[in-house]
Amino acid sequence: MIEQRRVVVIGAGPSGAIAAAILKRKGNDVLVLEKQTFPRFSIGESLLPHCLDFIEEAGMLPQVENYGFQIKNGAAFARGDEYSIFDFGDAFTDGKKYAYEIRRAEFDKLLADSAAEQGVEIRYQHEIITTNFQEDSARLTVKDQQGEIYQVQAEFVLDASGYGRVLARLLALETPSELPVRQAVFTHIEDRITHPAFERDKILITVHPELNDVWFWLIPFSDGRSSIGVVGLDRYFSQFGDDLSACLHHFVDTTPSLKRIVSDAKWDTPCSKLFGYSANVKQLFGQRFALLGNSAEFLDPVFSSGVTIAMHGASLAANLLDRQLRGQQVDWKSEFADPLQQGVDTFKTYVMGWYDLSFQRAVFWQNKSRHIERMISSLLAGYAWDENNPFVADHKAKLAALSQFCVEK
Ligand code: FAD
Repeated sequence: MIEQRRVVVIGAGPSGAIAAAILKRKGNDVLVLEKQTFPRFSIGESLLPHCLDFIEEAGMLPQVENYGFQIKNGAAFARGDEYSIFDFGDAFTDGKKYAYEIRRAEFDKLLADSAAEQGVEIRYQHEIITTNFQEDSARLTVKDQQGEIYQVQAEFVLDASGYGRVLARLLALETPSELPVRQAVFTHIEDRITHPAFERDKILITVHPELNDVWFWLIPFSDGRSSIGVVGLDRYFSQFGDDLSACLHHFVDTTPSLKRIVSDAKWDTPCSKLFGYSANVKQLFGQRFALLGNSAEFLDPVFSSGVTIAMHGASLAANLLDRQLRGQQVDWKSEFADPLQQGVDTFKTYVMGWYDLSFQRAVFWQNKSRHIERMISSLLAGYAWDENNPFVADHKAKLAALSQFCVEK
C-alpha cells in the first residue's frame, strides 16, 4: 500500500526545516525526507538579521539565541586602504538588528531537531529518486538507508533540496543563471586574530587589490575559529589545478590587508571548492509543488543572502499552502512567486552592481549621507522586501544614480 501524506518536504536544510515547522504549527501533517544524516557540512555560515524573523515564526528563536553562536551586528568591507562598515543597528527597516555566524552542521541540525520536537516527522537517509505529478496527487519514489525503495503519495510537495535541485532536474525546470560561472575555495582556520582593526562581530568582505571581481569572506565563529574563502571567475583558479590550499594561500598572500589579519592563523583544515553554484529555474511552482531556497534560484554568496532568501520563500510557501489545505482559494503566482522574486531581484541588482563595480563604488564611498548608509545597511541585513526603502522599491534606478553620484563627487 502506498503511504499517503498531506505534505512532503524534500530536504531538511534551513528552507525545509522552517517550512515544515510552520506547517506543523498550523496543524498540518508534514513528512520531511532528507538524503543525508545530520549533522552534515554545508556552506553558508553568515546569517542576516531578516532570517531571524522566520526562525521566530517557526518557533525556533530561543534555541538559536541560546546556542552560543557568534553574534553578527554588521558587515565590514576592505579594499586596499579603504574600509567601510555597515551596522545593522542603523538599518532603515524596523526589524532585527543582529544575526549570527554559524557552522551550518550545527545550525541546520538545531533547526531540524527543533522542527522534529514540534512534531514534524523527519526521515534521514531517505532520498527522493523519482517523482510523478498528477492532477490529484504527487507520487514520490524514495530510497531508504537500506536501499529499499518505497512510494509516498502527497497532496503537495515542497522541494527544499538545495544544490540537489530535485524537481528542477526531474521536471526539466533548469534555466541558465544570468551570473557567470564563479568558484569558491574555502576552509576553516584557528584564526588567532589579534589585529585591532578586525571586529569579530562582523563579517569581513575583502576585495583583492588587483582583481576587483575577486573577493574573500572572513566569518569568525564564537570559539576562536573562522571560515575563510575566496571567490572569483573560474579562469583565475585554473593555474592551481587541484591544489586548493596553494590557491587560497596565493590569493590571501597577495592581499596585504587580509594577510595581516590572518598572519598568525593555524591552517589546520583541508580546503574545499564549489563552482558553478549560481542557478535558476523556469518556474517557482507548478501543479502540486513549489520550490524553496537553492532548489530554485541561487545568486551569489557576496551578501550572504542565500539562507535569508531560502527562509523567506519557506515562510511564504508554508503559509499559502496552509490556506490551500484548508480549502481556501490561493494564487501561487501573486502570493508566492511574485513577492519572493521581488526580493531576489533586489539582491540581484546589488550582486550585479558588486561585480560591475557600481555598488562597490557606493560601498566604499566615504561621503555617504547617514540616510543612504541606513538604507544600504537594511539591504545588507536582508530586508530586500521592504518597499519603503527606496533602494528596494526602485533598486536599479537608485543604484545607478548613487553610483553616478560617487563618480562625480
Ligand atoms: P540546503 O541547505 O542545501 O539543504 C538541502 C537539503 O536537501 C540537504 O540537506 C540535502 O541533503 C537534501 N537533499 C538533496 N537532495 C535530496 C534528495 N534527492 N532527497 C532528499 N533530500 C535531498 N548563504 C548565506 O545565507 N550566508 C552565507 O554566508 C553563504 N555563503 C555561501 C558561500 C558559497 C560559496 C555558496 C555557494 C553559497 C553560500 N550561501 C550562503 C548560500 C547557502 O549555502 C544556501 O543558500 C543555503 O544553504 C540554502 O538552503 P536550502 O535549505 O535551500 O538548501
